Amino acid sequence: MDFYNDVSVLPRARYLQLVTSLRLLDPAIIRSSEPEEVLTFSYREPLRERFIIPWRKVKAKLRRLVAERGRDLGYGTTCFLKESLCMACPTCLLFGGTGETSSTKAGYNLLSRVMGETFISKTENVEPLDYTANAVGEVKHTTGQALMTLITVPADTEFIGVVTLKDPTPEMASLLVDGIERLTRIGARSVEWGRCRMDILGGGIFDREVYSAYELLGEGGLEAVPTLDLDLPPVEEAFERLQEQMSSLVEKIEKSGD
Ligand SMILES: [Zn+2]
Repeated sequence: MDFYNDVSVLPRARYLQLVTSLRLLDPAIIRSSEPEEVLTFSYREPLRERFIIPWRKVKAKLRRLVAERGRDLGYGTTCFLKESLCMACPTCLLFGGTGETSSTKAGYNLLSRVMGETFISKTENVEPLDYTANAVGEVKHTTGQALMTLITVPADTEFIGVVTLKDPTPEMASLLVDGIERLTRIGARSVEWGRCRMDILGGGIFDREVYSAYELLGEGGLEAVPTLDLDLPPVEEAFERLQEQMSSLVEKIEKSGD
């Protein structure tokens, strides 16, 4: 199976699956006063206790990175966050959105073409590292008023997750891969901690979703994934072409809605 050459309104049946590894270079915080972003989960044997990263966290990061790159190149310059998406740029084409909450009050919704799943740590959740810090009082700037305990996922923990691109074109894949390569921080307080590296281990284009981290983490699962040799256009060209395709797609959608 190969990429599609065009972008269609209605879904078709091809899936580019990227089997990825996300490796922590620093410890990542899993519990603090801020929302938990890396959690633990108990699976059945043989996976048992694992650290997990919910897909929505990875997706939000990827979307932000793709949008940043787009704005840098002059696409989707007024497209922000969930509440004011433009619904007309390449990032919205990839990650979707709802018209109602968009900045343009667009009369249509877009399904996300980037789909994912929970990222699961390769190794068992050994004792999480406790990091106890003295909270510094904001008013008096003295310590000792409160001790906060931050539980962290140890550095070097490697997560496996499958990122799936529905009805892929080389241009869409180029944006997604660029985002994956630039994902370098994860977790709460990631300004201070939570440096990571995301690599594509392999994958392929299929007529269904073939891979899942859960199954790949079983015996010999990861070793059986073929390496990917994608011939993708440079991200600058990909944005330009996708913007043209997105503009004509929006035109079609709006016409069909009349
Ligand atoms: Zn947009």
